[in-house]
Formats: sequence, C-alpha cells, structure tokens
Amino acid sequence: MRFATRMQTAQRSFIREILKVTADPQIISLAGGLPSPEHFPCAAFVEATRAELGDAGPACLQYSTTEGHPELRAFIAKRYERWGLNFSPDEILITTGSQQGLDLLAKVFLDPGDAVVVERPGYLGAIQTFSLFGVRFTPVELEDDGVDTAALEQVLRAERPKLYYTVPNFQNPSGVTFSQDKRVAVAEIMYSPSGEDTVLIEDNPYGELRFLGQDLPPIRKFMRKPSALLGSFSKIVAPGLRIGWIAADKEVIEQCVTVKQAADLHTSTFAQRVLARFLRDNDLDAHIEKIRKTYGERRQAMVEAIREHFPSQAKATEPEGGMFLWITLPEGCSSLALFDAAIQEKVAFVPGVPFYTDGSGERTLRLNFSNATPERITEGIKRLGRAIGRMLES
Ligand code: PMP
Repeated sequence: MRFATRMQTAQRSFIREILKVTADPQIISLAGGLPSPEHFPCAAFVEATRAELGDAGPACLQYSTTEGHPELRAFIAKRYERWGLNFSPDEILITTGSQQGLDLLAKVFLDPGDAVVVERPGYLGAIQTFSLFGVRFTPVELEDDGVDTAALEQVLRAERPKLYYTVPNFQNPSGVTFSQDKRVAVAEIMYSPSGEDTVLIEDNPYGELRFLGQDLPPIRKFMRKPSALLGSFSKIVAPGLRIGWIAADKEVIEQCVTVKQAADLHTSTFAQRVLARFLRDNDLDAHIEKIRKTYGERRQAMVEAIREHFPSQAKATEPEGGMFLWITLPEGCSSLALFDAAIQEKVAFVPGVPFYTDGSGERTLRLNFSNATPERITEGIKRLGRAIGRMLES
C-alpha cells in the first residue's frame, strides 16, 4: 500500500509496547504514567452527570462550539489569576487532552525541515507528535534546575527554531523543575534577538502536584511576547475525560481553532459539561490536596528505598512533585540490558533512550511513583536494586 512518507519514520510509543509486557500481575510496574485511580472522583461524577443532564438535557448530547464550553473556559482563565496572568476565556481553547494541544500547535507552526527545541531528555508524546511533521530536533541539555540556558541561547541563535517546547514543572520523564532564575532567564532569551523567531510552548500537566517546596509561576509570567501554555485535567481530575486546553494569545488560538475544526470539530460536549458541573459543585483544590498527599508519600517511599537498595554509583533525581523520578546508572551500564534483568526479577521501568532525539541516554531510566502503594514501591525498588547490583558484578 502507498502510505504517506511521514509513516516511514513514525514510531509507536515504546512505553505502550512495554506496558504489554507488564500485564503480568506478578510484575511490579514502575513503568507506566498512570494517575492513581483511587483518587478518581467517581461518586461526584455520578452526581455531576445526573445534575447536568437534568438541567441542560439534550444540550449535553448536542454538537457544540470548537472553542469549548464557556463555563469551562472561564474556570480555566480564572485559575491563571493566581499567578497574576490575565487570560480572557477567549484565549482558552478546550482540547481533547493536552496531547491534542501539541498536535494543533504543531500543525499551526511547523513546516517540514523546521527546527524544534526539545529538552534532553524530553516528553516522548511531544517528540512523537513533532516527528510526524518532518522536523529537525535541536535538543538542549536539561540540568538539575532546568534547561541549560547558555546552550538554549546558542541553539536559538544558530538554528532559528520555530518552537521551544518545555515542561518546566516536574518534567516527564526526569522530574526536573525549573528554578525561578531559569524561568526568568528563558523569558529573557525568548525576547532577545536570538529568540525572536521562536515561540515558547510551556506544557504544564503536573504543576499543581507539588508536595515539597514553593510553587513557582509559569515562564509566561515573565514573557514579553506571545507564547502558548498547555494544561490538562488528566492528572488533577481524570485522564479518561480527555480534556485539556491551550492558553495563548488570541492570534494563536484562532489558528488552533481552524485546525481543530478539521481534526475533531470539538471536544466531547458531554465530557466538558459534566466536568464543568463537577468543578462548580466540588472544591478542586481540596481534591488536588488529597492527590498531593498520596503522591508525596509514594515519592518518599521511592526516594528512601533507592537510598537503601541502589548502589551508590547510581544517581537519582528527588523531585518535589509530579509522578516521575529519573535514574542515571553508572558508566558502562545499559538500561535496555537492565530491563530484561528487571523483568526476571518481576519489576518494570521505562528505559531512557526513547526520551532522547539523538539516540543517547543509554544509562538512564524513568520510574513512576503515582500508581503503586508505598509497600509495592519499596519492594519494586528492592528488586530493581538487586538487578542493578547483578549487572554491575557481571
Ligand atoms: N504533556 C506531558 C508532559 C505529559 O506527561 C502528558 C501525559 N503523559 C501529556 C502532555 C498528555 O496529557 P493529556 O493528553 O492526557 O492531557
């Protein structure tokens, strides 16, 4: 069959392939990226569905506008006020997950051959999306306190990329968070002559899941030119809703609306209305607080187990929020080889290579702490420590 040229380089998500291996219930999976299902507000959604269908009736099941449900857009715009960011509801576009936000922005901005800055390592879903547009990746190193700003400035100056895609809070996969200084520095670089051809996309699905330290403002707060923010209800309410958003300047939103019309007309009316009703009748901040507490305990269990069971040469990030922790194995180790040894020990993780666009990252791996109890996490890390120990001896 004559498939499109773009399919020659399109890759299935490595993580989704791994998840097949981990279906065995004896395997402790630290591989996925699933939010903890015990915090999905099922009973409140039964109520919200009943109330919304009762009040709005057929409107819940009708086609609706591409831009999204007005009440939901207003709710999102209002939430940004906490950061002193003034978005009007017109500057919010509801998307089918923030993953669709990435696809829409890619369609709006990218031509084949364009350069795109991603971080080393970077979010796999974004790498997959951008890859389908035939772009050149110009990766920039991620340090413990955010992107290497000197390298970013240099790449922007030399390559004139169309986009710089970043996840500044508790990044997937590394768990790294940008310091306040780096946020300010990035905004300045984007405004400088080096950054004048580049649009910042700030993806923030995990920002509200902080369990240690101080909340920090979006880079947008310091920006002196248009940029786009991506947000999502996946990690703070439920991912199955498939509701996210783009918050951006009107000219960007208008272009995204045009391509969204062609993609799916609009995000599910039913899901948007029920979510809006849930948000009207429940306290989202109190709900998020429960998630934070659980994830904080799980993160603590993982950090402590790593300190106890991993060889000291293995380096681990100790994130202040989010769902992931990042391991760098000692020189000479391969996380792909470790994966097979770990499966023998009945524990799974995600090897780091797919998060790099340049084929590097051999010694790295991602661990998820949101979707297992502290006991399972401790046991999983113990098993993984054993597998690493064996690999170092051989
Ligand atoms: N961006 C990042 C950084 C993510 O980790 C994820 C989820 N894994 C997404 C976007 C997509 O989330 P959703 O489409 O569910 O909003």
